[in-house]
Amino acid sequence: MATRKKVTILGSGSAGLTAAIYAARANLEPLVIQGLQPGGQLTITTDVENFPGFADGIQGPDLMEQTQRQAARFGTQFIDDNASFVDLSKRPFMIRTSSQEIITDTLIICTGATAKLLGIEAEKKLMGHGVSACATCDGFFFKDKEVFVIGGGDTALEEAVFLTRFAKQVTVVHRRETFRASPIMVNRAKQNNKVKFILNHVVEDIDDISKNEVTGIKLRDAQSNKISQYPADGVFIAIGHQPNTDLFKGQLELTKTGYIVTNGVKTSITGVFAAGDVQDELYRQAVTAAGSGCAAALEAQWLLESEEGHPSMPLADAKQKVSK
Ligand code: NDP
Repeated sequence: MATRKKVTILGSGSAGLTAAIYAARANLEPLVIQGLQPGGQLTITTDVENFPGFADGIQGPDLMEQTQRQAARFGTQFIDDNASFVDLSKRPFMIRTSSQEIITDTLIICTGATAKLLGIEAEKKLMGHGVSACATCDGFFFKDKEVFVIGGGDTALEEAVFLTRFAKQVTVVHRRETFRASPIMVNRAKQNNKVKFILNHVVEDIDDISKNEVTGIKLRDAQSNKISQYPADGVFIAIGHQPNTDLFKGQLELTKTGYIVTNGVKTSITGVFAAGDVQDELYRQAVTAAGSGCAAALEAQWLLESEEGHPSMPLADAKQKVSK
């Protein structure tokens, strides 16, 4: 028999768990379908220095564990599974996991985004054999090794600095002259004498598939097309993220780059809200994800209350909010 819920949340990163805290505290007994990487992207980072309230920073996994316990404390239920199918064609909505069906009055989508890859064959074949998309997970394996980090954003530079804890040398390869990363991260990387930069270059290939390990990297000069080859033990890809929206294609309005289109946190379907990186191509921060998770839970609460005829805020305000 299907489980019946008022509020179901897909995803358990900052956005999903904050939505759960708010929905649980509104006595809506939310259900969180956690996905197969509970805690989201912060569980694969180390120091989080920009989340307000932690003067000395906090480890990403610790922050998410605390947030999960906070959501559980107010009565959130959790399912350790992925949603494999959603039907948003009528309310209540239907969600299917590998073992059950959930029927829900409102749905808050917080499925986040996943690391992008370069799309070359060697990267796929050598993933886990010297190629990685997560310095936090794999950095330890590169003690006294020669590693390359691909990308010019905050993630690339943060990972480069993190990898200097283990590696002999870390080379950042970026396809342009200027960085997308914030100046503070660029300075930190530049001041670290283990970090080297190769700018205006792209990855042409990674050696050596036949040996099933990384032995070198071929880079192409983006201007002259000249190929150079360097010895390497590891290659970390840090070129951004892809929103996890495959489940919603054809059902919800998406941007050209695949993000869910929202007005605030409202999607194109009444009763379906989206929060966090799955709908935010611009800010993509843990704290903005948490903020939008809070907003989504409040919107779901107000919608349900106005439909049940007992809004918790003055009727005029509630009507105005839910009709926007
Ligand atoms: P970004 O999208 O900011 O940066 C991706 C980088 O990868 C860009 O420099 C981009 O180049 C490059 N790139 C993209 N595709 C390719 C490709 N096919 N080949 C080569 N290079 C490529 O992603 P991040 O993951 O770095 O950051 C995401 C968000 O998270 C940002 O808002 C960032 O500020 C935040 N963040 C904050 C941290 C902190 O505060 N400590 C730590 C980590 C992330 P180009 O610039 O040319 O487009």
